[in-house]
Amino acid sequence: MIETKIKQIVRDVNDFPKPGIVFKDITPILKDAGLCNEIVAALAAQLSEIQVDVVAGIESRGFLFGMSLANYLGVPFVPMRKAGKLPYKTVQHSYDLEYGSATLEIHEDAFLPGQRVLIHDDLLATGGTVIAASRLIEKLEAEVAGYSFIIALDFLNGRDRLLEFSPNNYALAS
Ligand code: 5GP
Repeated sequence: MIETKIKQIVRDVNDFPKPGIVFKDITPILKDAGLCNEIVAALAAQLSEIQVDVVAGIESRGFLFGMSLANYLGVPFVPMRKAGKLPYKTVQHSYDLEYGSATLEIHEDAFLPGQRVLIHDDLLATGGTVIAASRLIEKLEAEVAGYSFIIALDFLNGRDRLLEFSPNNYALAS
């Protein structure tokens, strides 16, 4: 089972990036080309019922599988980045974090109005990041088609928050 393989290979790193946090390190997955392909195929299979025109990946770990998934689906990939990283004209959205705030940016010509965008990130925790990404997509008059992740931290209830925010589709590799 792919879920078991992911759980076995992902490395828990204690006290990163701050004391008390157990960080899920996905980099061991990247060393296993076969598992990477299985993950992409598993995500795509869960999305087969929905129309996805574009995959948008969130910096930076959302780029890894976001680009592969876009290629697999045969659709464009768009990077959503932290403030100040994209070279062309951007639209941005700021959102609150536990301490402070963060800003996500996207090129203003990333989507055509009405395009259906799948948001991809490596991991779902509280859902704050992908909800901010959803707002940004809406600012560009595109539509959120759904969400996909490699891992969800169930104890943080991000999935419930996401489904409340948008009853759209949700794909999870593990
Ligand atoms: P959320 O906004 O859902 O609370 O947090 C998810 C975001 O934080 C994602 O962009 C994800 O990459 C990052 N993140 C938070 N905790 C972890 C973790 O333990 N492992 C990894 N790989 N990413 C994390």
